[in-house]
Amino acid sequence: MKLQGSTSPGAHPDPWHLNVDLHCHSTVSDGTLAPREVVRRAHRNGVQALALTDHDEVGGLAAAADEAARVGLCFIPGVEVSVSWGDETIHVVGLRIDAQDAALLDGLAGVRGGREERAMAMADGLAKAGIEGAYAGALKYVGNPDLISRSHFARYLVEAGICSDIRQVFQRYLVQGRPGYVPHRWARLAQAVDWIRGAGGVAVLAHPARYRLGETGLWALVHEFREAGGRGIEVVSGSHTQADFVRFGKWSREFDLPASRGSDFHDPVESNYDLGLLPRLPDSLVPLWAGWAEVMQMQPTLADN
Ligand code: AMP
Ligand code: MN
Ligand code: MN
Ligand code: MN
Repeated sequence: MKLQGSTSPGAHPDPWHLNVDLHCHSTVSDGTLAPREVVRRAHRNGVQALALTDHDEVGGLAAAADEAARVGLCFIPGVEVSVSWGDETIHVVGLRIDAQDAALLDGLAGVRGGREERAMAMADGLAKAGIEGAYAGALKYVGNPDLISRSHFARYLVEAGICSDIRQVFQRYLVQGRPGYVPHRWARLAQAVDWIRGAGGVAVLAHPARYRLGETGLWALVHEFREAGGRGIEVVSGSHTQADFVRFGKWSREFDLPASRGSDFHDPVESNYDLGLLPRLPDSLVPLWAGWAEVMQMQPTLADN
C-alpha cells in the first residue's frame, strides 16, 4: 500500500513491521509496574516505540521518557481519558501530547476529581453485599492517591479470596447492576478530544469492541468521534479478540481512521498481551504512526504473524 503524503522524507516505507505499542498502564493509574519498569519491560520485549497511556493522568510520563532515553526506546507521551457517552463509559487515548498543556492538565484533574467519592460509594455497595473493608483493601494497591480505580478493588477482592481472578470480580461485583458498581460522569467526548488536540496530540478511540453498543450505537459513536476531531482507532488491541482485529480493521478503512496497535498492558499476569507481544497490523490498514518521523526513522523488526 502506498501512503500518500503521510511519511516524512527519507522515512522507512514499512511502518507495519515496526514494534509499536501505543497503549499501556503504570502504577500512576491501574497498572502494577512503575513507569520506569514498564519502559524497561517494553524494551526487553522488543518494543521500538512505546506510549504510556495512564487513565486520566500524565504524572508518569516524565520518568518513563527519561528511562526510554536511557535504554534507547522511542517514547510517545500519552494518556487514556475516561468519557461518558450516554450510559456507556468510553475511553479515548491521546498520543503525542504536550503533557505540560494547561487546558489538558486542568481537564484531567477535573476527570480524576470524583474518583475518591466514587470509590467510597463502591465500598458502601460492597459492604451491603457482605464485603467489609474494601476501601482500605483497595487503597493498598493504589500507587497514586488521585487515581483509585475498579482495578484496585478487583485486586483486593482476589487477595481476600472472594473471587478467583480479576475477570470474575468485574463480572460479579464491578459492572452495571452489580453491588460495587457506581454510575459516574466522566468527560464529554468532544471535550476529551479537544483537550488532546489542544495539547498537540492525536485522539484515538480505544478498544471499540469493549463497548456495550449495538452496531447502530457504535456507528453513532465513531461518527461523533470523527466529527469531534478524533483521528485514529485501535484495531490490534490487547482488549480485542482476533475476530475484533478483523472487524475493526474494516471500521478503520471505512471511516478513514488510521489504525492503532496497543497491548493495554496492566500487569504481567493479569493482561491478555504483554508489551509489544501482539500481532502486527495487517498490510491493508494505514498505521497511525506512518507519518511520525520519530518512529519512522527506525528499522522494522517484526515478523509476519
Ligand atoms: P475505572 O476507570 O475505575 O472504571 O476502571 C476501569 C479499568 O478497569 C479498566 O481500565 C480496566 O483496566 C479494568 N476493567 C474494566 N473492565 C474489566 C474487566 N471486565 N475485566 C478486567 N478488567 C477490567
Ligand atoms: Mn485500566
Ligand atoms: Mn481502556
Ligand atoms: Mn487502557
